[in-house]
Amino acid sequence: MSKLLIVGTLAFDAIETPFGKTDKILGGAATYIGLSAANFGIQSGIVSVVGGDFPEEYLKMLNAKQVDTQGVEIVKDGKTFFWSGRYHNDMNSRDTLVTELNVLEQFNPKVPQDFKDAGIVLLGNLHPLVQNAVLEQLEVTPKLVVLDTMNFWMDIALPELKEVIQKVDVITINDEEARQLSGEYSLRVAARKIQAMGPKYVVIKKGEHGALLFGEDQIFFAPALPLEEVFDPTGAGDTFAGGFAGYLTKTKDISFENMKNAIVYGSNMASFCVEKFGTERMQNLTKEEIFDRLEQFKSLTQYEMSLSK
Ligand code: AMP
Repeated sequence: MSKLLIVGTLAFDAIETPFGKTDKILGGAATYIGLSAANFGIQSGIVSVVGGDFPEEYLKMLNAKQVDTQGVEIVKDGKTFFWSGRYHNDMNSRDTLVTELNVLEQFNPKVPQDFKDAGIVLLGNLHPLVQNAVLEQLEVTPKLVVLDTMNFWMDIALPELKEVIQKVDVITINDEEARQLSGEYSLRVAARKIQAMGPKYVVIKKGEHGALLFGEDQIFFAPALPLEEVFDPTGAGDTFAGGFAGYLTKTKDISFENMKNAIVYGSNMASFCVEKFGTERMQNLTKEEIFDRLEQFKSLTQYEMSLSK
């Protein structure tokens, strides 16, 4: 079975949207990535760290979905990473209210032996030094390394981030962050500048406005599915990345053509994530629901048009 190695935070999140507010609930980049990738029938494993305050039932929930957590260190007397954010009325932008690194501050990741030969590695949102340390422990060169990051790390660890960016094949990043990283407003120019930093492919996520994939000379765009209800966009980017990498791990085809499909699969998974607060929707998702929505995606985006000059 193909293997996906996931790196990222396991967290407590407190979220405010125009529809309500939560206390500390389960969140974290690796949580969303794992829950998304779990739908592709692959072997996946998380490298992360939590404190003694992280309920064991959360790890059990991931294990029940065949997401391996051997690589999750538990620091008994430490506190789990905590993030809090507030969404604006349009739900497309948010303010980070609190980021408490806690156990992340002193984290030395250890990749379990079973995942040192993973075919695909998804370096999800976490300190770039941790992302780098994971790459250094691999025993077999992966077919593809995908990196996801956010403005927080650009603000506090840009040189380290640039070092790891050099080593990856694909970067997934949102539009605002692509502009911050490149210093360019045009996403086309931004993508070209980011490609010059290392990654052959750049995926720019535009929230409810879809996602762009930039290859060597090609560009592909997929919209997001227009939804009736959006409650909480938290984790949509990670869920997208988990679907993207999960699909590529399953199909073992990393061509540009297949990455287009991976973008659609990623967008499809993200469309569920935003329908409920936190991870709730991703914890209760069926194969039928995923398939039905893929059909909706297909009919939304496909059209025949004959061109003549
Ligand atoms: P997204 O909405 O896809 O950007 O992801 C939100 C998730 O990322 C939340 O569940 C947070 O716990 C997690 N998160 C927020 N800030 C950071 C950070 N600086 N590093 C890693 N994960 C983060």
